Amino acid sequence: MKNIHDLPRVVLGVYPTPFYKLENISKKYGKNIWIKRDDLCGVALGGNKVRKLEFLLADAKEQGCDVVFTTGGAQSNHAMLTAACASRLGMKPILILKKRGVTEHKGNLVLDDIYGADVRMMDTDSYDDIYAEMHRVGAELEAQGHKCYYIPCGGSNPLGAVGYVNCVREFTVQALAAGIKVGHIVSATGSGGTTAGLLLGAKLFQPGVKVTGIAVDTDPFSEIVPQLAKESAEILDCSFEREKDDFEMVSHVGAGYAVPNAEDTPYIEELARMEGILLDPVYTGKAWSGMLKQLQSGYFGEEDNLVFVHTGGAAALFAMNLG
Ligand SMILES: *Cc1c(COP(=O)(O)O)cnc(C)c1O
Repeated sequence: MKNIHDLPRVVLGVYPTPFYKLENISKKYGKNIWIKRDDLCGVALGGNKVRKLEFLLADAKEQGCDVVFTTGGAQSNHAMLTAACASRLGMKPILILKKRGVTEHKGNLVLDDIYGADVRMMDTDSYDDIYAEMHRVGAELEAQGHKCYYIPCGGSNPLGAVGYVNCVREFTVQALAAGIKVGHIVSATGSGGTTAGLLLGAKLFQPGVKVTGIAVDTDPFSEIVPQLAKESAEILDCSFEREKDDFEMVSHVGAGYAVPNAEDTPYIEELARMEGILLDPVYTGKAWSGMLKQLQSGYFGEEDNLVFVHTGGAAALFAMNLG
């Protein structure tokens, strides 16, 4: 196996991100719940895409690229963080976003401008259309002498997912220092890369610990996630074998991707009021409320020390209403 440190990486965040027990919430729910604060990773308003971009943009740099393309919804956290990180590394970010009904210049769209992104909206529901447009624009730029790097939606390819293997490595050390044994790792699943990295990371650094992804979209993540984990393992030159009960997807998408659920709002308010922590209505609010519902239905059994990986997303609070 390769050491993660052997892969090209540019450090973009401030690490380690905090890892601690949510005292008030743990008391209320009768279970020790820990949080990994990747919302506090030190770039923009934080978020999980930064760890992925550390590997993706290092690859872009190695290839001598000066333009970085990516995509997502109009309020994509991933696109915003790609703009922030690419600009910082001296590469021009071009974001081709799904317009889909979004007309207001709020939230991440404000930040995209601050970070110097060239933002283009496409009125389509198909990422195939967007990738075709991306490569068309990219070919024009290449003809002018630029070199382009293309990052898929969510940064969820095998190299991006390695960022979350690295996150597990980081909180394994923190859990050891805190004197606890991690019982279960839970996080939001939107395009799958984070959950794939957590799954592979758990195999490598927390053997026997189960990963549950709370799906906030309807893609077939039960297949996507292990497949990505396997391909990330190839990059790290290690093996990845599924085992019984090592991973599960739970859907908490509600009315649809990026549509806030009214039933999540009390959980979002509770975490804010009891622990001071903000969740967003698209990803972390759904994941958090989905996790607590599973907890209340006995899903975690006797497992103690659940770890909730907070993946960021706060800008959405300024772009949409809670459900
Ligand atoms: C992208 C995102 C996720 C989902 O991560 P994936 O790797 O795409 O599954 C979760 N939370 C926030 C805030 C995000 O921006």
